Amino acid sequence: MSGLFGVVSKKKDSCIDSLIYGTDYQAHMGSEYGGLAVLGNNGFARFIHRMSNANFRDKFFESIKNIEVHSGIGVISDLEEQPIYMKSKVGEFCIVTSGRIVNMEELAKEMMDAGICFSEFSKSHVNMTELVARIVSTGQTIQDGIKLMFGKIKGSCSLLILTREGIYAARDYFGRTALVLGQDSESFAVCSETCGFANLGYRTIRDLNPGEILLISDTEVKVLEPGYKEKKICTFLWIYTGFPSSSYEGLNSEIIRERSGKLLAKRDKGIKADLVAGVPDSGLAHAIGYSMESGIPFRRPLVKYTPTYGRSYAPPSQHLRDLTARMKLIAIKEVIEGNSLILLEDSIVRGTQLKNFTVEKIWNCGAKEIHVRPACPPLMFPCTYCNSTRTNSELITRRAIREIEGSDIEDISEYLDPTTEKYAKMIEWIRKYLNITSLKYQTLEDMIEAIGLPEENLCTYCWNGKGDGCKDCKKGNA
Ligand code: SF4
Repeated sequence: MSGLFGVVSKKKDSCIDSLIYGTDYQAHMGSEYGGLAVLGNNGFARFIHRMSNANFRDKFFESIKNIEVHSGIGVISDLEEQPIYMKSKVGEFCIVTSGRIVNMEELAKEMMDAGICFSEFSKSHVNMTELVARIVSTGQTIQDGIKLMFGKIKGSCSLLILTREGIYAARDYFGRTALVLGQDSESFAVCSETCGFANLGYRTIRDLNPGEILLISDTEVKVLEPGYKEKKICTFLWIYTGFPSSSYEGLNSEIIRERSGKLLAKRDKGIKADLVAGVPDSGLAHAIGYSMESGIPFRRPLVKYTPTYGRSYAPPSQHLRDLTARMKLIAIKEVIEGNSLILLEDSIVRGTQLKNFTVEKIWNCGAKEIHVRPACPPLMFPCTYCNSTRTNSELITRRAIREIEGSDIEDISEYLDPTTEKYAKMIEWIRKYLNITSLKYQTLEDMIEAIGLPEENLCTYCWNGKGDGCKDCKKGNA
C-alpha cells in the first residue's frame, strides 16, 4: 500500500512545507520508501529515500531546501521506489501510484514483447509505478493514457501525475483506495489520507469518484472524467489501515471504530472483566467504543513506545516484522496484575504477533483472564487489491482449517458462516493457538453497520471472498 499527497499552490514559499508535511502524514500507509517530485523554476526534480531507518521530514527538507517549488507530489510506499519521471509523447511528467496490479507481469511481458523497455525493478519485479507510467505514455493524452491503464489492469490503482499544466489526480476505478481533494485560500491539495489536511489548513472539498480524473492547477480543478457512483471501498481503511483522524466518504475512522466496539459489546452481554483495552493504535478506538457500551472501564495495559514503529505487518521480512512487534509495545504490569481483560484488536492475520508479543506479555504481567475481540470477522482470503496479505498460508484461519480437515480444502463455505459447527471449531482452534481465555470476532453485518455505507459500496473480499475478479462490478475484471 502507499499514501499519496499532491499540492499546487500560488504560495511558492509554503508549497514545499505543505508537500513535505502532507506526505509525511501519509507515513502510516507505507514504510519502505519515501519520494517527492516537484516542479520549480528549473523544471522537474525527483527525490527518493529509503524510509526504514529515517525520518521523512529531515531527509526531504535537506534535499529540497534550495528549490523554489510551485507544485509537487509525494508518496510513502511499501513496495517500490517512486516517483517515476518520464518524457514521452504525452509530455514530461512525474507519477506516484497507490494500489496493487495483479496482472503486472503479464502486462509487462506484453509491453516488452512490443519493444518497450523497463528500467526500474523492485525486488526483481517490474516496478508498478513504472508500468503504469509506460501504459499512460501510450495514450494520445495523459487523460487518455490513464483511461487506457484503468482498462488494462486487474487490481487497483490510484495515482497523481505532476505536469506543467498541473496535477492529474485519478482514483482507482472501483474506489478501493481513497483520494480526497482539499483547498486553502491559495492552493489545492489531494491526498490518500485526510489526516494530512487539518494541520496544514486545508479543508476537505470531496472524495474523488471511482475512476474520476481531475486536472488540478493553482486556480481551478477541472473534472476531465466524472468517474462512477458504483464503488468497492476497502473496508479495512476504517477498521485498521486508516489514521484515526482520516475520513473517507466523509466518514471518520475513529468514530467508526468506536461504533464497531459498541456493536461488539452489545453482542457480548454477560461477560465479566475488570478492564477493556485496545492493542495500539487502531485497537484503541474499538476498545473505547466497547467500554462506552459495556460500562467496563477503558485502561491501557499496553502502550506503544513510539509511533515511528508504524504498522507491524508493513516491514517486508518476517524477522523485521517480529522485531518491530516485540519492541513497539510495552506492557504495564501495574495495570494488568490480577485483572481480567477484554482486549480489542483490529484484526488477526497470522496471529503470531498477537500470541507471542502481546498475549504473552500480558500473561507474564499476571493477568487473570484475556478475552480477545477482533474488530472484524475472521480473515479468510488474502487481499487481491493492496499489499496487506498475499497468500492463504499466511492466514491463521486457513491454518486452523488445514489442521481441522487434515489438509487444505477448496470449499470453505461452512467456515465463513458463524452459525456452523465448523466455524465454532475454527474459532476454538485459534483461541487455543493464541492461548487466550475466550475469542469472539466481530460479525460482517455489524462491521458494515458500523461503517454505515451500503454493503455493495464496500470491498469485503477479505472476509467473504466476494468481489474477486469483480464479477459483480461494472468492469468485470477488477
Ligand atoms: S480485500 Fe480486504 S484489504 Fe483488500 S481492498 Fe478488499 S477489504 Fe481492503
